[in-house]
Amino acid sequence: MTRKTGTAAERVFVGLGANLGDARAALASALDALDSHPAIERVATSSLYRTAPVDATGPDYLNAVVELRTTLGPLDLLKALQAIEADHGRQRPYPNAPRTLDLDLLLFGQREFDDPALTLPHPRLHQRAFVLEPLAQIAPDLMHPRLGRLRDWRERVVDQAIEKLP
Ligand code: ADP
Ligand code: MG
Repeated sequence: MTRKTGTAAERVFVGLGANLGDARAALASALDALDSHPAIERVATSSLYRTAPVDATGPDYLNAVVELRTTLGPLDLLKALQAIEADHGRQRPYPNAPRTLDLDLLLFGQREFDDPALTLPHPRLHQRAFVLEPLAQIAPDLMHPRLGRLRDWRERVVDQAIEKLP
């Protein structure tokens, strides 16, 4: 494979979710869009997981997590993710509304960033089974800059229903 980015780049993790329309097709199409971006390389992809909505009602979600390398900075990567969401018909009628596609920037190396437009690490990633399970699958030893080994947080979310799809 032709590498788009340098080998020394930081490990970046993005969470994908969809629970409206054909969620499986939306996630597959989002992966294609990431791969088409000249400054983004996808280096690992979790299985698909089916999860019940957290703090919301509506259809079950399909979720996955990918590991990326990119030459973009965090804010430019977020813009690229939001452009892909918009291409997939993403609307934001109210907080936690069902969505055709949600792309959350989970971790950008060990960087910490505190801005309403971008908080790093993602402020709720350690509270969500639909993030922790796929992260543990593709990056079992992953560290959070403030919370330590992320796999140790999985036991606190065992009450959240999640099913790994074949
Ligand atoms: P949700 O938290 O349900 O995923 P949205 O996808 O609608 O909500 O995102 C709401 C806002 O959160 C976006 O406008 C974005 O600027 C901001 N945001 C802050 N930190 C992050 C992050 N780490 N990843 C994605 N969006 C973020
Ligand atoms: Mg989001």
